[in-house]
Amino acid sequence: MYLKSLELTGFKSFAKKTELNFNTPITSIVGPNGSGKSNTAEAFRFVLGEQSIKSMRGKRTEDLIWNGSPEMARSNRASVKLVFDNRKRLLNLDVDEVVIERVIFRDASSEYVVNGSPVRLRDIVELLAGAHIGSSGHHIISQGEADRILNANMRERREMIEDALGLKIYQWKREESERKLEKTEENMKQVQSLRREIAPHILFLKKQVEKIEKTKQLKEELRTLYGEYLKREHVHIGVSKERIANEERDPKEELAKLNEQLLASKKVLAETHGEDAKTKAVIAVEERLNGLRKEREQISRDVGRLEGEIAAAERMKHAQAFVHTNEALIPISEIESIAKKAEGIFLTEDVTVLRSVFSVLQQALSSLLEKYRQKKGPSSDGIDGDIAVLKERKQQAEKKLHDIQTSEREVVQDEKKLRTEIDREKDSSRDAEKEVFRIMARQNELHGILNALRLRFEEMEHLEGDFKREIAEGAILVGREILEYQNVKIKKENGEDVTVEELAKEERVAQEDRRRKVERLKIRIEDAGGGSGAEVVKEFEEATERDQFLAREIADLEKSAETLRLLIVELEQKLDQEFRDGIEKINREFQNYFSLMFGGGTARLALTKPEKKVRKEVDDLLLDGEAMAAAASENTEQETGIDIEVNLPRKKIKALMMLSGGERALTSIALLFAMSQVKPPPFIILDETDAALDEANSKKYGDMVENLSKYSQLILITHNRETMSRAGVIYGVTMDKSGVSKLLSIAFDEAVAVAK
Ligand code: ATP
Repeated sequence: MYLKSLELTGFKSFAKKTELNFNTPITSIVGPNGSGKSNTAEAFRFVLGEQSIKSMRGKRTEDLIWNGSPEMARSNRASVKLVFDNRKRLLNLDVDEVVIERVIFRDASSEYVVNGSPVRLRDIVELLAGAHIGSSGHHIISQGEADRILNANMRERREMIEDALGLKIYQWKREESERKLEKTEENMKQVQSLRREIAPHILFLKKQVEKIEKTKQLKEELRTLYGEYLKREHVHIGVSKERIANEERDPKEELAKLNEQLLASKKVLAETHGEDAKTKAVIAVEERLNGLRKEREQISRDVGRLEGEIAAAERMKHAQAFVHTNEALIPISEIESIAKKAEGIFLTEDVTVLRSVFSVLQQALSSLLEKYRQKKGPSSDGIDGDIAVLKERKQQAEKKLHDIQTSEREVVQDEKKLRTEIDREKDSSRDAEKEVFRIMARQNELHGILNALRLRFEEMEHLEGDFKREIAEGAILVGREILEYQNVKIKKENGEDVTVEELAKEERVAQEDRRRKVERLKIRIEDAGGGSGAEVVKEFEEATERDQFLAREIADLEKSAETLRLLIVELEQKLDQEFRDGIEKINREFQNYFSLMFGGGTARLALTKPEKKVRKEVDDLLLDGEAMAAAASENTEQETGIDIEVNLPRKKIKALMMLSGGERALTSIALLFAMSQVKPPPFIILDETDAALDEANSKKYGDMVENLSKYSQLILITHNRETMSRAGVIYGVTMDKSGVSKLLSIAFDEAVAVAK
């Protein structure tokens, strides 16, 4: 026995707490009409999780709660508690007693409690399914529902039988697996669509990352190239500048010297500017000389004339003494004066001077000859006087001449000196000039050289500027490590380091080539446009990780879906097998009970084929109204349904519809009992199932009930005396004026009385 007790509080007509104890295999509940007996059966449905209010004869939840009467206020809650003896672990809980309680409130909220812990309806259903207490309620037959199984359509019938066979648990498992499968497939779709959604992003990121990688590579390449390029450029600029400086040194020094020389030469030239003054002096000297000469000549002529006159006077005096002689006496003084005239010849080399001296001499000699050929001597007294005067005058003229000659010699000397000076100056000036020209030419040359060097230097400066810009740009582009270019070691093919000298020797073309490579790399880096992109890489990694995670998840889901599919197939096979086995067993029992009830005949459950075939059979058996009705309501039936075939003894009745009310009741009782026999539920509640039976059949019913009670605990709501007689405990339900159902344990005789 599994049922211990049922406690109703505020449920329907049971306003007050009422407890029914079930400590015998058969418990009967008796009482007058409307006392509340059926409410107890509904209390069972209720506490076991029935969701259909209608099946508990209500419209709304509230209808299940004590509605109140003039004598007693209505309740706000209704609760039913069912206590199971779980020592045999009927219910899958490791306790000896399980109390299931359901409470409802007027706001339609509902609570389930198992052994004091709130649970979900689902937990209750699962718990009960495991104990073969199905929700179809095949073991709770309500009033007037005895032939429910006969009236049910094939699908419902099948469900009831499945429930009775305890297959619900498999079905429930299958449904749950199907739900899980559906959910899994849905999840899979979601994950797949998620993957699809992120796929373009990943692709985009991948491309970005590839770009970044490419850029990284290019940068690395550029960095290496920069190392060599910058080092070489640095060396080239340094060495070139040094070389220029070296090359400048000599020309500069030379130029400095030249400047000094130029200054000196200029000074010389500046000094020769005095030439004019000297020339003037020369001219002045010459003029003076000329003057002196003219004066001298005049005086010489005067002296000569005077000498002539003296000589003439003396010749006259002499002639007086020595008349007519060809000889004439020529005073010595006259000869001397002529000789004196000739003296000037030695003073000069100048031809003009010589000529003038000669002409003077010629004149003097001519006038002397003239004087002494014609001269006739005067008286010797007067002549002597004349001679003396003339001599005096001559002496004076000679003195003057002498002075002039002295001056002349001096002046000639001066001139000579001047000319020498001038000549000397002219020479040195020409040299200075030449020197100045030479210096200037050289200077030009040197300036040319230095200019060329300067241009080269400027070029280097320009190059250096470019170089610095390049470094700055490069550092931004590929990193500051390129600033260490000076430490870069360039290797030769044999692995040795290239020396600075060797670096400097390299043809510039090679470096220009390198420079073009640098430019090309820069352009490629710019084109690649990857940037440093650490974040993008990170995002890509995360996205890929996520994608892989999703892929794994899909694989996992696929795996569990596959497991579920297999499980479903297994469950279906099991269901199918157990169902067929169960039907076979039920049929054996059904046949037994049926022939027991009817004293013969045959009855069996027949499996119908799925919908299409059903139709065909319907067409074949147009008269089979039951099948028609079933077919009509099972248009979409895809599964096997269950038909009931009966053969009453001595009667040619096959269709259920043709049975009498009693026959229907007997047939359904036979079937119910058969079902219960095959897989006995822990308890069965039969609410006036025996109502339609006559006395003879009531007896048979009683026998069957007693037999059934060996397997299941029975709670029988009845008015039937025979049925009551089989019960160990009889509860009487009464209802007083206040409309409240009351319970009392009564003896059989009392019960009979109460029932009546
Ligand atoms: P019968 O022998 O005729 O089948 P019964 O003993 O089975 O009768 P029930 O049908 O169980 O009687 O009880 C019906 C009674 O319960 C009615 O009188 C009805 O008024 C009462 N009842 C049902 N629901 C409520 C409720 N929510 N509050 C108060 N009384 C209720």
